[in-house]
Amino acid sequence: MRVVVDQDLCGTTGQCVLTLPGTFRQREPDGVAEVCVATVPRALHAAVRLAANQCPVAAIRVIESDAGGDERASADPAPSPAEAERHAAKDQHNPGEHDGTV
Ligand code: SF4
Repeated sequence: MRVVVDQDLCGTTGQCVLTLPGTFRQREPDGVAEVCVATVPRALHAAVRLAANQCPVAAIRVIESDAGGDERASADPAPSPAEAERHAAKDQHNPGEHDGTV
């Protein structure tokens, strides 16, 4: 996992730094957050996802792949093709609203 901060969006609240001071830091002199690790250790994955979800301006993006080839943000993940297919199949079986019958 990797994590990046959109420094144009960062509102310099410092919340991510308070949550994970070993992963994020605020640069001098403007307080914009920076990431200070190349990859996130597995033990911190949940905490990094939490920090991303708690950022008030959604400036933190989590990249699940370490390789960088398949960079998909996880803060608001898109469904996998298999999930999308399941949802489509479910919609075909139960289109529209449920009418209350069993
Ligand atoms: S929580 Fe978000 S807005 Fe606050 S310092 Fe971190 S990246 Fe910037």
